[in-house]
Amino acid sequence: MKSGPFDLRGKVAIVTGGNGGIGLGMARGLAAAGADIVIVGRNEAKSMAAVVDLTRGGTKAISVVADVAEETAVTAMIARIVGELGRIDILVNNAGINIRKPPQALEIAEWDSVIATNLTSAFLCSRAVHPAMKDARGGKIINIGSMMSIFGASFAPAYAASKGGIVQFTRSCAVAWAADNIQVNAVLPGWIDTDLTRRAREEVAGLHDKVLARTPAARWGASADFAGVAVFLASSASDFVTGAAIPVDGGFSIMG
Ligand code: NDP
Repeated sequence: MKSGPFDLRGKVAIVTGGNGGIGLGMARGLAAAGADIVIVGRNEAKSMAAVVDLTRGGTKAISVVADVAEETAVTAMIARIVGELGRIDILVNNAGINIRKPPQALEIAEWDSVIATNLTSAFLCSRAVHPAMKDARGGKIINIGSMMSIFGASFAPAYAASKGGIVQFTRSCAVAWAADNIQVNAVLPGWIDTDLTRRAREEVAGLHDKVLARTPAARWGASADFAGVAVFLASSASDFVTGAAIPVDGGFSIMG
């Protein structure tokens, strides 16, 4: 799809948590549209495997090992990317974790860890890329929310708080940076088959069948389902779309 409004040739895209699951699905879509890719994660071996996979398809891809919940690590990561690749056009804030416990059982360290990884990381990375995007007179930021940006879940109080926060953070940045021609949007995945949800299916009884019963598309999502929305929100096709929260959920959120 390397032409017209979806053309990403010459663009540099950072995908946090891009070494697997939804992040890798998005990275593959951005790469197919012509972007150079920076995979960010803590697991170097997993990130290198993703880089090899992308490079095999002819994409320029690098891995940067960083914990996106750490301010100093994010500052160093962005400085390195600007130094090595010269520009940052697209940031996908996708890194995320969950700790599945009811609110009364959640430790403060667990709460802090989920909020830092899922929400504070998006703030740190977005703030860090803003100067480069402003100087370039434009950019695209894609934040990953969840169905728990909309709904509650007894076993995910910190996760739901972080994902609700992601949507409001998205809207605030969209307003703040519209004058810099930076569009900031959120994607709200439904239930997607990844490492994260494989663990959830083990820990939450009946989850697998409940998801199937409630999803009009009658299937779990796949990481490849995120390639198209990533290209749309990263390209000039979405230049008048900002502050949106787009469900990619097989209809889960409109099911009565
Ligand atoms: P995965 O567990 O497959 O991917 C999570 C990614 O985040 C990994 O690549 C991991 O890499 C990275 N990561 C976690 N913590 C950090 C950190 N501190 N610093 C840098 N990278 C980090 O899960 P998914 O693909 O399912 O999830 C991706 C996003 O989508 C998350 O934000 C999740 O909340 C969201 N989501 C997922 C849904 C689903 O059904 N799967 C539904 C709704 C939302 P590494 O271990 O190398 O650090």
